[in-house]
Amino acid sequence: MSDRYQAFANSALGKLVIKNLGLPAPIELDRYEPGKPLVNGAVLFGAAPDSTLSAAISDALASIHADTYAGDNAQLQQVAAKSGLNLRAFNSGDKESRFKAFVFDASGIANSEQLVELYNFFHPVARQLMPSGRVIIVGRAPEAAGSVKAATAQRALEGFVKSVGKEFKKGVAAQLVYVGKGAEKNLESTLRFLISPKSAYVSGQVINISKAATVNVDWSMPLSGKTVLVTGASRGIGEAIARTMARDGAHVICLDIPAQDADLQRVAGEIGGSVLALDITAEDAAQKIKEFSAGKGGLDVIVHNAGVTRDKTLANMKENLWDMVLNINLSAAERINDYLLENDGLNANGRIICVSSISGIAGNLGQTNYAASKAGVIGLVKFTAPVLKNGITINAVAPGFIETQMTAAIPLAIREAGRRMNSMQQGGQPVDVAEAIAWFANPASTGVNGNVVRVCGQSLLGA
Ligand code: NAD
Repeated sequence: MSDRYQAFANSALGKLVIKNLGLPAPIELDRYEPGKPLVNGAVLFGAAPDSTLSAAISDALASIHADTYAGDNAQLQQVAAKSGLNLRAFNSGDKESRFKAFVFDASGIANSEQLVELYNFFHPVARQLMPSGRVIIVGRAPEAAGSVKAATAQRALEGFVKSVGKEFKKGVAAQLVYVGKGAEKNLESTLRFLISPKSAYVSGQVINISKAATVNVDWSMPLSGKTVLVTGASRGIGEAIARTMARDGAHVICLDIPAQDADLQRVAGEIGGSVLALDITAEDAAQKIKEFSAGKGGLDVIVHNAGVTRDKTLANMKENLWDMVLNINLSAAERINDYLLENDGLNANGRIICVSSISGIAGNLGQTNYAASKAGVIGLVKFTAPVLKNGITINAVAPGFIETQMTAAIPLAIREAGRRMNSMQQGGQPVDVAEAIAWFANPASTGVNGNVVRVCGQSLLGA
């Protein structure tokens, strides 16, 4: 779907007009290309005194082969050396150097006075982040902090990160990762996602990582040998998910309603996947999914992407529209999960991935049915996550304005508002949602459980 304003904004004339009128200036965001480095530029790494996550971060940066610099921090130098990370000295007076990412270990911040460490690290270099740059702060979940003061200080990180996301502009994304006790070795898949262009349209998010078994993966083909089922795979976001899963090595079962068969055949054919033409609201949908995937080595990942909108104000809404939206978007996924979990329908270290929406977080005029269904998806994730076993996880993405047929149908004025009211000043692409799902799906992401991550360019809605 095309964004003509963005194309204009990046032309020579457009740049001039936009600068003079103070209009939004959406840049073309970096996006991941296989074979290209995960971080296309240098990383500046800092830590507050007494931080405890620098070894885990160093290990991950070494594994990514990031070109990493740090200021005069003896503790960091020592930890990094043990990880085999080549940490080079950086003088914060050097205004010429440019960075693609700032990574800061804030786990040592134990009271509000120590929050000044954020200022000390970021202030001197705030102008030195490149377009599509990343700010990643890693801390400890306030809930698990040892004292009220430490919990308060760790919670404060969220306001800092969300403000930086709004302030730095030029496609910069900022995130906060809370690492649970004993979850240090579960950090890498998340750091890889957040530091790379795969997270182009994810910003202002708080991600929790909990302790889980560690799994070694081939990072270039993490889903090799895995079977992934994607519902609603014939077009839009579902098609992008299917393609991204196949890129990462999975065999993809592409599911959609029989009426979408031609597109479904096309997508599955192009990615070497298989076709399951099925309505997910059918009574025997879960059994059919299990039977079909049994022939492919069983199911490793299910992505509940199929969804519909039927917008009407509540006063004007017919009961069948309420029922249809709730059934497709929420109840069908619930029934399928229940059946698969009760009947060994998901392999060990399996993944359940749901697609919510920022409408489910913010609510939306004319969408009582849709927002209820998508908020229900968030509930499903939150309350299912703690009871899962065998390394199985459940997470959701909550997309904002994504350029698809669904959003192309929105009237122009509302469409333009939805597109621009976020830190990226543009809509996201289906692949942006798919990349977040691929991060959840990664076998090394077992510590990522019960998270709802917005893919919305830090939309102002529901924030
Ligand atoms: P889309 O309408 O282009 O695709 C949805 C797909 O789901 C279609 O192929 C459709 O045939 C399939 N589907 C619908 N009912 C089904 C059923 N009963 N059984 C099987 N398949 C069924 O929509 P999209 O924009 O690609 O959205 C995908 C998901 O993302 C949806 O859950 C949607 O709510 C969510 N979402 C989209 C946006 C956005 O901006 N496009 C924003 C937030 C959330």
